[in-house]
Amino acid sequence: ITEAEQAVLDEIEDNDISFLRLQFTDILGTVKNVSVPARQAEKAFSEGIYFDGSSIEGFVRIQESDMRLVPDPDTFAILPWRRKEDGASARMICDVYNTSTGEPFEGDPRYVLKQALDRAHEMGYTVNAAPEPEFFLFEEDEEGRATTETNDAGGYFDLAPKDLASDVRRDIIYGLEDMGFEVEASHHEVAQGQHEINFTYDDALTTADNVGTFRTVVRAIAAQHDYHATFMPKPIPKINGSGMHTHISLFTEDGENAFHDESDEFNLSETAHSFLAGVLEHAPAITAVANPTVNSYKRLVPGYEAPVYVAWSDRNRSALIRKPAARVPAASRIELRSPDPSCNPYLAIAVMIHAGLDGIEQGLEAPDPVRENIYEFDEQKREEYGIETLPSNLGAAVDALEEDEAIYEALGDHVAPKFVEAKRQEFEEYLVDVSEWELDRYLETF
Ligand code: GLN
Ligand code: MG
Ligand code: MG
Ligand code: MG
Repeated sequence: ITEAEQAVLDEIEDNDISFLRLQFTDILGTVKNVSVPARQAEKAFSEGIYFDGSSIEGFVRIQESDMRLVPDPDTFAILPWRRKEDGASARMICDVYNTSTGEPFEGDPRYVLKQALDRAHEMGYTVNAAPEPEFFLFEEDEEGRATTETNDAGGYFDLAPKDLASDVRRDIIYGLEDMGFEVEASHHEVAQGQHEINFTYDDALTTADNVGTFRTVVRAIAAQHDYHATFMPKPIPKINGSGMHTHISLFTEDGENAFHDESDEFNLSETAHSFLAGVLEHAPAITAVANPTVNSYKRLVPGYEAPVYVAWSDRNRSALIRKPAARVPAASRIELRSPDPSCNPYLAIAVMIHAGLDGIEQGLEAPDPVRENIYEFDEQKREEYGIETLPSNLGAAVDALEEDEAIYEALGDHVAPKFVEAKRQEFEEYLVDVSEWELDRYLETF
């Protein structure tokens, strides 16, 4: 047993933990968990906990259904919303192993991200990332089901009393802090009922773990206040959707920010420029992973601060990549603005990393930044500037993913085909559906 594992066993003892939730994520990014009595912790570390993977989305075929979960002791956290009287619970995030081979399971999204981090490591880098998840708080109806009603008339950075949900947001923040988050800022977002909570950047694996935890905490605490928190990208048409801008930077082994260069006009190193160029080059394929739902594409339209065009900027927010102002060298980074909070954070961060590293390997050069509002460009002007458009729907994005060998392969032999199959099916179901909009428009006209 390792020192970190022993520390967890001590915490379990000291805090009277009765149950352990062992968590992992399926290909679609949904957090799953198996609950075991806390006295199983030692066994979980040494042998792992066996479960039947055949019923988890995209995990395995039936004939190879036995999987083994091995908890990562660094992810131990006590669940703040389970009260002591009912026996305190804690969770740990697990790595998934194949029982027959004893090897890490290729279908585990956490493993896909670890592979990307290994590649970065071989090139001499560690990766830091920070997400900016946005979400809506909606009221529940009498049966406790989610509506799209909000009783809040707040807007960007508004304060109470307009921002009626600030109590909920405060409790969410306490919950996140109890789970070990360092919350940097929270504010009311642009749309009514929309919020954003930012937490400190961390190594990319911790950040991906954190996104799953974040979504769980936000939903659980909102529910205690009778609100439904949703990370659906565009729940209401014609107002801002919810994004999950993702900031990323590479550090060298000795802790220097490899993206920073004082002498560059944008304070970005050559490495950063090439990384950025790689992300731009692979942007269409990344979109399938970072924007994986039919609804994601209702957000990626002009006019709502979400990206549509493949360009970067050090100023405006209509570009796909922005270079945020950095007060200290360690903070030099790029911000990818396309991801939305319906994505699987492990896979989305993994493909971003592979795309950027590919740019470095190929020595790609970034184009000039576009400082004007690209939403206002016409087609001719975009052509003049050489600006491509992101895929406009899930089907087109999946096509782009299949055509981009580097990104497809980044997902691995198990996840890539399963992901494509699941997303094609989702898109085809959508195509044959008849929507409210069509009935409103055509039913009485024809
Ligand atoms: N909600 C916007 C998006 O969809 C972002 C708004 C903002 O953070 N400035 O990406
Ligand atoms: Mg923000
Ligand atoms: Mg925001
Ligand atoms: Mg942002």
